[in-house]
Amino acid sequence: MCGIVGYLGEKEAFPLLIKGLKRLEYRGYDSAGIAVLGDDGKLQHHRRKGKVDDLLAHMEGRVPSGSLGIGHTRWATHGPPNDVNAHPHLSGDGQLALIHNGIIENYHALKETLVARGHTFYSDTDTEVLVHLIEEILKSSEDLDLFEATRVALNEVVGAYAIAVVDVARPGELILARKSSPLVIGIGDGEFFVASDATPIIEYTKNVVYLEDEEVAKVSLSSGLKIRTIKNHRVTPVITELEMAMESIEKGGYEHFMLKEIHEQPRSIADCLRGRLRLGHGAIRMAGIDDHQQMWTDAQRLIIVACGTSWHAGLIAEYMFEDFARIPVEVEYASEFRYRNPVIGEGDILIAISQSGETADTLAAIRMAKEKGAHVFGICNVVGSSISRESHSGAYTHAGPEIGVASTKAFTAQLAVLALCAIRVGRLRGALDEQRFNRLMVDLSGIPEKVEALMQLEPEIEKIAEEFKNAPNALFLGRGYNFPVALEGALKLKEISYIHAEGYPAAEMKHGPIALIDENMPVFIVATKDAHYDKVVSNIQEVKARGGKVIAIVTAGDSEVKSMADKTIEVHRADDAFVPLLSTIPFQLLSYHIAVKLERNVDQPRNLAKSVTVE
Ligand code: GLU
Repeated sequence: MCGIVGYLGEKEAFPLLIKGLKRLEYRGYDSAGIAVLGDDGKLQHHRRKGKVDDLLAHMEGRVPSGSLGIGHTRWATHGPPNDVNAHPHLSGDGQLALIHNGIIENYHALKETLVARGHTFYSDTDTEVLVHLIEEILKSSEDLDLFEATRVALNEVVGAYAIAVVDVARPGELILARKSSPLVIGIGDGEFFVASDATPIIEYTKNVVYLEDEEVAKVSLSSGLKIRTIKNHRVTPVITELEMAMESIEKGGYEHFMLKEIHEQPRSIADCLRGRLRLGHGAIRMAGIDDHQQMWTDAQRLIIVACGTSWHAGLIAEYMFEDFARIPVEVEYASEFRYRNPVIGEGDILIAISQSGETADTLAAIRMAKEKGAHVFGICNVVGSSISRESHSGAYTHAGPEIGVASTKAFTAQLAVLALCAIRVGRLRGALDEQRFNRLMVDLSGIPEKVEALMQLEPEIEKIAEEFKNAPNALFLGRGYNFPVALEGALKLKEISYIHAEGYPAAEMKHGPIALIDENMPVFIVATKDAHYDKVVSNIQEVKARGGKVIAIVTAGDSEVKSMADKTIEVHRADDAFVPLLSTIPFQLLSYHIAVKLERNVDQPRNLAKSVTVE
């Protein structure tokens, strides 16, 4: 959460910072702020509640000049989103400006000590405490420079941080550090870029250094990049080349990133399968499994940890691994798992799923499982992310950058990767015979085309959105593989339209939610022709008997549900396990169009942020 951006070089920093902040705005948009150090040695500091455009409006055309600067979009954790709590925060003497992503957990104790030493605080944030702490340490000894003072200060901090610090007295350098929140340094020709992810950097350089946990860096125009750990061990920077393309982070003619990303799914799923699903060879190649075949063969249990939409992908994977590989599976919310005392052993494989690869709770769950001896298999979308680096093995989803806060293409790519894994492991363990294995491969390879066909239904789905956009509540139901699809459908609708929605296994409806059904309640049901079809038909009858409005996702050619439901949306036939890759698409389009009709901010829904780097 929160976007950090920084520049040090020869160019004007301000336009670069603003462009970078706009790219990072998906990470947080409670407030925005910048600090630019002018050639006259004056710090130009502006911050404002709201989005980057609100900051620009507030600045009324005053363009700060200078070639060292930092910028921030906030996702508030400590104190409301107002002007005073917005970053950058300044030291008491106004010499230091700092931006921060994360939480300083012991900020209260630190603040009390600093107040006793005469510091005055203006904001409610934990961040302001950190910049005062650095100031205090810097002033305590003449031998300390800003790099050292920051390093020493971070030894007193408990919590998570990605920070960038500017000192008025040091116009040629920028200090950075990270723990549990991401930070990337771009190395240009005589210039440096800093950001929470690579999207603001890619335009200028492909050479980046990912800072690791508890590392402090100094970028300097005279001496380049220097990194030490907070315990003062020297670190040799490793430069990585970015593979991202510029078009992938732009809207490409679509009104919103979310719509672009929904429409990218035929390609992103195909990209995810490419090179792995080898129909001609009758094989699936997954390096993360191929390199550890014995371990997957012997595995006693899989534990899947994730949050939000990725957790829904995990639930579908549970069914897949049970069906195809006959391995017991547990699916856990990372935030719960990490604070329990879970029983984990050496025969366990922990699968961690996260789009950003930075999800704080999932990362913590990984660390805990590693300590207890489990093998960690990470599934992430962002290449080079913390989870991908901390996992023993894994697979990228290759969906390309996902900017819309509501996940769409990353979810279906996760499902595609998990399907590949489950089939591959099923064959490895002998739970799938060759014939079924081949049939599943053929079926999976046909999914991108079927997803493409679903895009034709958009005008029809838009009409349904018009009809139900004013519903105060909605219920999403499904069974088997489509139960998590119902959960995901409800999540999508609530997160971008703010309509209250609940997802349930269809049979659970009569244990409570049925009390809510009346003629104002739209009930979205996945009723595709699968093992549970007849049962779902009965559930539809139960809803209709109480006057509810049924919008059903059915298999092409279905007539039974059509005769009962108020609306139907047809998807192509596929193996039960792969139907979620299809049935989830109409729900994405439906949520999108309802949100647009309600004039919601689709790509940046209120209170949310894309990459949840705080626990
Ligand atoms: N904890 C800090 C604050 O509330 C930083 C939050 C963020 O990561 O944006 O201001």
